Amino acid sequence: MNPVQSVQSTSSLTVAKFGGTSVADFQAILRCANIIKNDSSNRLVVVSASAGVTNYLVRLSQQGVPVDEQKDIIENIRAIQVNITQHLASDVETSLNQQIDSLLTELTQHALTQSLQYTAKTTDAILAFGEQLSSRIFAQVLQSIDVSGEYFNVQQVMKTNSLHGKAVVEINQLEEQCAQLLAPKLQNNVIVTQGFIGQDAQGHTTTLGRGGSDYSAALLAEALNGDNLSIWTDVVGIFTTDPRITDQARAIKEISFGEAAEMATFGAKILHPATLIPAMRRNIPVFVGSSKEPEKGGTQIKQKVDSNPTYRSIALRREQSLVTVKSPAMLHASGFLAKVFAILAKHELSVDLITTSEISVALTFDNPTGSTQSLITNTVVAELEQLCEVSVEHGLSLVAVIGNGLTLAKGVGRSIFETINDINVRMICHGASANNLCFLVDENDANSTVEKLHNTLFK
Ligand code: ASP
Ligand code: MG
Repeated sequence: MNPVQSVQSTSSLTVAKFGGTSVADFQAILRCANIIKNDSSNRLVVVSASAGVTNYLVRLSQQGVPVDEQKDIIENIRAIQVNITQHLASDVETSLNQQIDSLLTELTQHALTQSLQYTAKTTDAILAFGEQLSSRIFAQVLQSIDVSGEYFNVQQVMKTNSLHGKAVVEINQLEEQCAQLLAPKLQNNVIVTQGFIGQDAQGHTTTLGRGGSDYSAALLAEALNGDNLSIWTDVVGIFTTDPRITDQARAIKEISFGEAAEMATFGAKILHPATLIPAMRRNIPVFVGSSKEPEKGGTQIKQKVDSNPTYRSIALRREQSLVTVKSPAMLHASGFLAKVFAILAKHELSVDLITTSEISVALTFDNPTGSTQSLITNTVVAELEQLCEVSVEHGLSLVAVIGNGLTLAKGVGRSIFETINDINVRMICHGASANNLCFLVDENDANSTVEKLHNTLFK
């Protein structure tokens, strides 16, 4: 056996994050482990739960799940994990399976607690198991190819507030704790840790929101003053638009932080929308590539790029709600919008787009995919109705044309809207950012809108 590869303390630091499909099975993890082995700057690995596991955990964390179903879910999670460990040396397999079983025993306890008394706190405790399992396994797969992988519990450094389900990370603490507890370890070993999870001041587990592992990795890269952040996923980078909508979509070689942040916010599902914020603060270049085909390269996201085309990409976000508030009292009045926003803030609703005319304001809201209930509840509507007339429309999609200098270039509006002159445009937002022009169309027109625009703007 080769000596375990040790890491040079002087080499640069890349934080490598692997998403759920990259750690779905043994072959997938092995590919990731080789990516780590092939570039000695990869010294911190952040993993998601194996594909499917978080969805099982979400179900397990819901109210009133029958005990039989709880058992099935836990059995299914176990099957995903032990299908991976069976490919490791038998002593490693045995020890990992023991760890898996003891974690699953804890999980069973949480599930029972949850069925007796549902809390957001227990939900987070349940959701965290996916990453806790996959990170342990990943470290051992590294070991199996002679890389000194070491498991690290991210909760020692990722301190958050107690907003379960979307906890806010204490960035200063993260930096301090990383310097103390994590940085020294990176000198000798490749550290494998969890995305998505954290811990509040009382020691309770918290989570950063679905898809939050990208964001965890970016925060860790920032806190450790890393040189690079690599997000390994199942597509060969960021595309000009969703390739499922048009086969004309192509991978983008280089894109600026500003443009990529717009894409992530406006629906390109590839990165968690908050991911680029820490990277931008410390000017850490971000790479997005496929762990299945690392040789194909990917997209580089950085501050300065060689080309700044007017049109870079088109993002699409479905399931948008449009709320229009109208009040004659708004005529020449001040403070009306402040009241509207106070109500929205109270319900923790985040507004995406906004357009105003003298006596009415239109606001859009994103309904998280798969959510069964609109974010705009009857309570919200009733409170707004105290102030003004309210109408709510659903079934809309937001199309965002992303690029550079869109507020300065000539003919942008014409190129876009002439191309889709047979489609009803419900609302347009243009001017606040030079990096995007957004509009709403009916859900049924969304794909054809994107396809037509892509054909015209990316000929
Ligand atoms: N496992 C979590 C999720 O599926 C976090 C992540 O994958 O980023 O949402
Ligand atoms: Mg993800």
